[in-house]
Amino acid sequence: PLTTPSTLSILHLKRDLLLPTIVLPASGPNDGYAEGPVTNTRFGSFPHSTLLDIPWGSQVRASFVDTGSRGRKRKRSPDPSYENNIPQQHNASPNTCPPNINHSTPHHHPDAKPQKKRSSEPPSGYIHILPPTPETWTLGLPHRTQVVYTPDYSYILHRLRARPGTRLIEAGAGSGSFTHAAARAVYGPSSSPRSSSSLTAGPTPADDEGKKPTWGHIHSYEFHSPRHSTLSAELASHGLDPLITLSLRDVCTSGFLGTESASCIFLDLPAPWLALPHLSRRMPGVLDPTRAVRICTFSPCIEQVHRTIASLRRMEWVEIEMCGIAAKKVEVRRERVGVAFGGRRGEKGVSAHPASVREAVGRGREVEERGRRWHERQVMGAERDAEEKEAPVVMKEEEEEHLEMKKPGEEGNTVPGYYEGRLVTRSEAEIKEHTSYLVFAVLPMAWTEEDERRAAERVAGMA
Ligand code: SAM
Repeated sequence: PLTTPSTLSILHLKRDLLLPTIVLPASGPNDGYAEGPVTNTRFGSFPHSTLLDIPWGSQVRASFVDTGSRGRKRKRSPDPSYENNIPQQHNASPNTCPPNINHSTPHHHPDAKPQKKRSSEPPSGYIHILPPTPETWTLGLPHRTQVVYTPDYSYILHRLRARPGTRLIEAGAGSGSFTHAAARAVYGPSSSPRSSSSLTAGPTPADDEGKKPTWGHIHSYEFHSPRHSTLSAELASHGLDPLITLSLRDVCTSGFLGTESASCIFLDLPAPWLALPHLSRRMPGVLDPTRAVRICTFSPCIEQVHRTIASLRRMEWVEIEMCGIAAKKVEVRRERVGVAFGGRRGEKGVSAHPASVREAVGRGREVEERGRRWHERQVMGAERDAEEKEAPVVMKEEEEEHLEMKKPGEEGNTVPGYYEGRLVTRSEAEIKEHTSYLVFAVLPMAWTEEDERRAAERVAGMA
């Protein structure tokens, strides 16, 4: 599939720096550029005409844009709303992303830099254009609050057993990071294992014949009015509004609407214990009466955890557990050794086969390091170099050698990866501190005298 105009795209600038952008047709607002709409980044300028009708995942090189007349017209200062984290209402342009992640004006994004005036050097920067997913949205979204990140929401949704057809309550919605991931998890009818990989819900497929599947839905609550309206606009622009009901409501004082019939609950609130009394089976319409309900609360302090657990116990929740996620990045790659991977045949000191494993490893590292430096200079550009140096990822080599080096065809060489180099894994030396404590619990299905009588009858009938 190709990129299309007026849809959300994720511009991947570098690892952990993603820029959500609505790619506009040439007729879109262009802020005075002859090229039409342009996105400016620290890696160069990207006219939207170069981002359209290309396969997702494409690498796009920076272009010259003519800033001559524009530069004289006016000079903008950075958007203050971004720096103060104050959410802003969208303007009336077809671009529905908040102005601070907008498309056409430099300085809007904190990473944007005006493109230099035309010089004889071709621009060397590049980006990749990616389809939006909850993961890429989480990395690029405009933060209005703390957000739940991918390692946490993946685990939470799994433990809550969110699946196509699930009806889930979320409070508070905040910046919508969890909301997007939850929408993907529940998208679809309960009879289907399908789940959309994209952010967009898309058309509702017809119900399967003979079955009456439940359609998944998110009932999300937020009591902060500007956050509520900004997220509503984002959800609509991502095509998710049929799947998510976002209500402006204080769930601790006013409770829930009573139309949810939910079997999963996620509370990311400062005082989740105040919302729990509204999540009892005595509240009509809130919980699904036909199944056990699973809850997760997300709290940064252990005192909050104590109060939540005490309240859960009083409200007859069971299987109460607390845990934290310590996500760790592990780099797995092949380290190239020997002439097959870099040493040029005939180069001084490079023989067809290294004399020892130690020599091979040393040579491989040297060649790789040389290649890495060349790659950085040539492709990434000096600016990117500086950026990477600012935040080096400290990696600890965990596993030195776990492939025995044997020549191809040599007895005992059962390892097909010989020519690809040995497999090396490295992980971060320090695990990042925890984000929050996760408390999980289950509210069992209500079991009445009538249920007991029916169950007894069924058992008797089977005998
Ligand atoms: N989970 C969100 C995400 O991934 O983007 C972030 C949630 S943020 C930490 C907490 C949100 O809860 C804030 O936006 C706050 O306004 C909202 N909130 C706090 N108390 C609330 C209440 N009683 N009812 C509804 N929303 C509330």
